[in-house]
Order: sequence, then C-alpha cells, then structure tokens
Amino acid sequence: MKFQHFSHHHKLIFREAYEEEYECAGCLDVINGPAYICEDEGFAMHKVCAAMPPQIQKDAFHPHPLKFKLVDIIVCDACRRFSANYIIYKCIYCEFNLDFKCAVAIINDENEIAKRDDEDLRRTTTPHFSHPHQLTRCKVSPMSELGENIFKTFWQSSKLKCVACKLEVQGTLSFICLPCKFLIHESCMNDMPMQVLSSPFHPHHILHPRPFFNAREQVRCYACRKKVNGFSFYCNTCDADFHVSCAKYRTRATKHSCHPHNLLQLGKSIIKGISCHACGRKTCNDSIFSCRKCDFNVHPKCIPLPSSFEHKRHLHPLTLTSPFAEDDSRDYYCDMCETERNPEIHVYYCAECNYIAHIDCVLSEVRQL
Ligand SMILES: [Zn+2]
Ligand SMILES: [Zn+2]
Ligand SMILES: [Zn+2]
Ligand SMILES: [Zn+2]
Ligand SMILES: [Zn+2]
Ligand SMILES: [Zn+2]
Ligand SMILES: [Zn+2]
Ligand SMILES: [Zn+2]
Repeated sequence: MKFQHFSHHHKLIFREAYEEEYECAGCLDVINGPAYICEDEGFAMHKVCAAMPPQIQKDAFHPHPLKFKLVDIIVCDACRRFSANYIIYKCIYCEFNLDFKCAVAIINDENEIAKRDDEDLRRTTTPHFSHPHQLTRCKVSPMSELGENIFKTFWQSSKLKCVACKLEVQGTLSFICLPCKFLIHESCMNDMPMQVLSSPFHPHHILHPRPFFNAREQVRCYACRKKVNGFSFYCNTCDADFHVSCAKYRTRATKHSCHPHNLLQLGKSIIKGISCHACGRKTCNDSIFSCRKCDFNVHPKCIPLPSSFEHKRHLHPLTLTSPFAEDDSRDYYCDMCETERNPEIHVYYCAECNYIAHIDCVLSEVRQL
C-alpha cells in the first residue's frame, strides 16, 4: 500500500512493524507500531500522524485556518513548549503556531490540549533588563534527533544554553526571544542582580547589565575568555564584559610566591580550555590558581604548596585535597574562617574530623608562625 504525504516528495510504504528505530516526522516520538515509511531517506510517520490533513480549522480554538509549514522552530501557542519541528501548523493570517502534537490533539480531542499542558504555562510575556525585547515564557522540550538537526541548521548549534548560567535549558522553564535566539532560565532571570558590586575578577568597579543583540563584534568574557551571547555584566571604565555566572563566581584571592600578583582559585565551570603553566595539561577537573591580567595559570599541585602538614588550629594533619562537596546541601563553608566555600576548588582537609578549610586560610596562618 503506497501513500503520498503532503510533507514528503516520495511515496510512503505502509508497514506493521520495524526492525530499525525511526522517529516520527510528525510527533517526533519513536515509532514502534504501524507506520508509513520512506526507506530511502529514513523518513517515517505514525499511521495516525500521517492521517493529519495539510490544513486544519477549529473555530472554537482559533478563528482562522492553520496551514502546515515544514521545518520551523516555535513556541507552541497551545502548550507553550519551545521546540524544533518538522511539521507545524501556522495561522495563515496572524502570528499563531501549533506544534504537531497539539494540532493532533485539537483534531482528535480538545481535552488532550489540557493534558499536554502539564504546568501552568499560560501565555506570559514580560520585559526584562537583560534583553531589549519582550520575553516569552516557555517550556523547552527535550531534544529529538530531528529537532537537533533542525537546531543545528537554523541556530548553528544544538546545545541551547542559558545566557546567564551557560548551562543547557532543555527540559526547563525558560524565557525566550525567538528572533534573537535569546534564552534564559526562569530561575536565572529571577535571581539576576541589578549590578555586581565586587566581583572577584573585577573588585574595584561596579559591573552593570549590558544587553546586546545582533552584535557585530564577538564579545568575550574577561574571566573565562569564552564567547558571551546576548547579555553580560559590563565595566564601563575598563570596557570589560563578564558572563553573569562568571561575574558572580565565588572565589578568593590568594598570595603565593610563584607570581607577583594575587591569584584567584578557579574551578571547572570556568577553566575549561585553560592550560597549566607548569604541567601544560588542559583537560582536567582540577581547580587552578589564576592571574587573569597576566594569563598565568597553575594547578595547586604544580606549585610549592605543602601537600600535608600539622596546623596549630587543628589536631590532625591537613591534606591538600581535590575539589569536592561533602554533601549535596549546596551550602559549603570553610571551617577555619567560617565563610562560604566554593565546592569547585581545592581545600585542605582532615578526613577524620571532616574538617575543611580554604587554602589561603591555612596558608595565612602558617605564615604568621
Ligand atoms: Zn507520530
Ligand atoms: Zn503545543
Ligand atoms: Zn489566526
Ligand atoms: Zn541559567
Ligand atoms: Zn530579542
Ligand atoms: Zn565567563
Ligand atoms: Zn573596571
Ligand atoms: Zn599576574
């Protein structure tokens, strides 16, 4: 049985079952039942999905006809999901888009729409100082294989990252400006400070938010040296940009005889691609001592630091230890100075007492001896 679908230029063949795993070009789910398929190009559709017409209209839902469109990245106006689709339905008069699954739901059973709406995602757009345009609240769909290819083609990247924390946004509630490809976690947006007062990377000047879009020149972060997309914290005196997460990075300045300037201890979220001056290794999860001004970087274990010693403030010997978090509380403290501690950086540690201290706290007391 052959079948011509409006979205594909070859005839499709009907099969009851498959050996291979195909993704449905309509709903993007994996197929394991009866389906239509074009074996040449690995194109396949569920039987029910292939039955969708090229144009739909349900006045109770939207007053205009919605026509199919191939390959698009949208925020669905029914379920508020943000995804890349092979087939969407688009209003022929106004800005109104449905992803394929919602179109199927509207045709078959309108209650299905409510079921897809697993979280309260009623249309919300809001202005935010991180971007010059209105941002739309959406849920970012997990990436299907087809979706990933579409993002690669249209966005030059299949990794969708938050402008604030640089982490992926898949599966999260986020805000988006679609034309600018600007994405930010809802939580990062809510937590964003209006200014950064004393960033360890730039302690003497206040950093202010700087949105930019369609920027001609590439903006790089002074702290991690990586590209900044769409939004930074900026020093207007020194013309220096910072990722939000880098500007707020929690670390301390330490003095060490190996370098004339203060060194910042940096962890894995910042030092990717930075190589150690002493051993030359680039790819490791160790923390690093860094002078950003001189681009001088060394591992704690590559400079003369005592690996273990007795300390007057603690009964047992303290050992230089790789970065670790003692639990998942997200609140970590130095037992010597009792201020916060970044779990990404090296510490001095006594396993017997679970006593953990900043390197510079331990060293400064040693020097006083
Ligand atoms: Zn399907
Ligand atoms: Zn939808
Ligand atoms: Zn319309
Ligand atoms: Zn984020
Ligand atoms: Zn925009
Ligand atoms: Zn950075
Ligand atoms: Zn400055
Ligand atoms: Zn230096």
